Amino acid sequence: MPGIFPEQAHTQTISDIGPKNLSFEDKKNDPSLSTTSITNDQLLDGLLVSTFDKAMCLSRFQSHLYRKASPHKPSAYLISKLRNYESLHRSCGPHTKSYNKIMSNGAKFSKNSAGIKCKYLVWTASNGLGNRMLTLAAAFLYAILTDRVLLVQFRADMFDLFCEPFPDSSWLLPRNFPYWKDQRHIETYENVLMKSKKNISPEVLPQFLILNLQHTHDGHNNFFHCDRSQGLLQKVPVLILWSDQYFVPSLFMIPSYRQDLIKMFPQKDTVFHHLGRYLFHPSNEAWELISRSYKAHLAKADEKIGLQIRVFNSRNHKTPHQTIVNEIIACTSKHKLLPELDMQKSATYLKKQTSKAVLVASLYSVYGEKLRTMYLTNTTVTRDKVIEVFQPSHEERQNSNNDTHNIKAWTEIYLLSLCDALITSSKSTFGYVAHSLGGMKPWLLRRAYGETIPDPPCKRVKSMEPCFHYPPKYDCRDNRTVDFTSLFHYMKHCEDVTSGLRLVNANS
Ligand code: GDP
Repeated sequence: MPGIFPEQAHTQTISDIGPKNLSFEDKKNDPSLSTTSITNDQLLDGLLVSTFDKAMCLSRFQSHLYRKASPHKPSAYLISKLRNYESLHRSCGPHTKSYNKIMSNGAKFSKNSAGIKCKYLVWTASNGLGNRMLTLAAAFLYAILTDRVLLVQFRADMFDLFCEPFPDSSWLLPRNFPYWKDQRHIETYENVLMKSKKNISPEVLPQFLILNLQHTHDGHNNFFHCDRSQGLLQKVPVLILWSDQYFVPSLFMIPSYRQDLIKMFPQKDTVFHHLGRYLFHPSNEAWELISRSYKAHLAKADEKIGLQIRVFNSRNHKTPHQTIVNEIIACTSKHKLLPELDMQKSATYLKKQTSKAVLVASLYSVYGEKLRTMYLTNTTVTRDKVIEVFQPSHEERQNSNNDTHNIKAWTEIYLLSLCDALITSSKSTFGYVAHSLGGMKPWLLRRAYGETIPDPPCKRVKSMEPCFHYPPKYDCRDNRTVDFTSLFHYMKHCEDVTSGLRLVNANS
């Protein structure tokens, strides 16, 4: 993309955006916080509502100053489903009469669950932040489709990341959720399916049920996408989701949801793009880090290139850092994302052409350092100028149970999503969230072995959607295994995980 600062019309306000403790004077003078001037851009073409307290969540009203308007508009039907969902959440959310009644009923509940107004889907965390955000978006979509209220069980490691997404209510699961106290009444999804196969009446369905869609847990996963299972699940008042997977393609496989989904997402590869921008607004704490980094390191560049370097080393196999750097250079030169380096000449810029800033996201400092040194000490062949190689953090190891660590991860995912082009690492959900939020199709770095740079070094993905790494293989109608890409023209195997599935636009 030609490198202009997003939303040129607003550039003068960027430098005025203040940190979270705004004084009244600041708020009064900040156009993004004024009560009367909420624009369609701020509301993401109708995806968001305007009724939130602005100072509680600055990013909700200011993100449009940093991000180009998305060319992908949400459908009117999606918008109406979101408004309906918000209304359901408002009337059934935590501490409402309905919530208190269902949660206090205990095991007595089971016989009478058919006509209840409020049902719940409780999301629990597993794995790193990328996985968590993907499953949260998938869970939200499942909640919309099944008229359930989504509640999230955040621990201290996630409390400070996001704003509340739903108006006049909370998505946080109250601490006194009965399941955590008394697990005697908990059933698992497979048990219920097994019983129902033996023709045990679904009347014995429990009040709480664990829906295990973890990638490590395969058995049940073969049936979640079958209408019969959904018929059973629908009767359970409270589902507790364990998952680390982006199971959205499974939802498209379920006949009773498919038409609704197609109407909500006429452009199939925008599911996470829309739901992610609806749900995930950085908290004021995260927003302060994001906006500061953006202004200091990215705002002035004509083009912002994001590099996400996730290294999955195993005990037997370690790729040398230099090989990965060489692979990145091979990829960025081949696709003209970054100017080629002339290693013979030291850095001089006779005439400035395009200025580029490179954002490096990685656990390891070595990548930012190596790339910075290369661009600072060598002239680029085209004399384009790489003005800065910037790596916001280097945690050195994953520590997903830590709040500060997760805020840094979220900051970097968000900053990557603000770039003009992305190079990301294969199989990384961290990268998926960044490109999908930003509405980009990244170049995926292929995994290097030893010192050999893969040829080609990277591959452009066909879709903005994240990859579902462990999709089902069971055809519910025929009682046999199937490759779902042969049944749905809008599902393709992922470029980075050959057995995975990604939603694509029909013509891609
Ligand atoms: P995946 O493992 O690549 O699919 O991504 P996840 O986000 O699920 O898990 C990886 C976790 O490691 C992240 O959530 C972060 O906690 C940490 N991590 C990995 N790469 C980075 C990075 O570039 N920057 C930061 N700050 N943390 C990272």
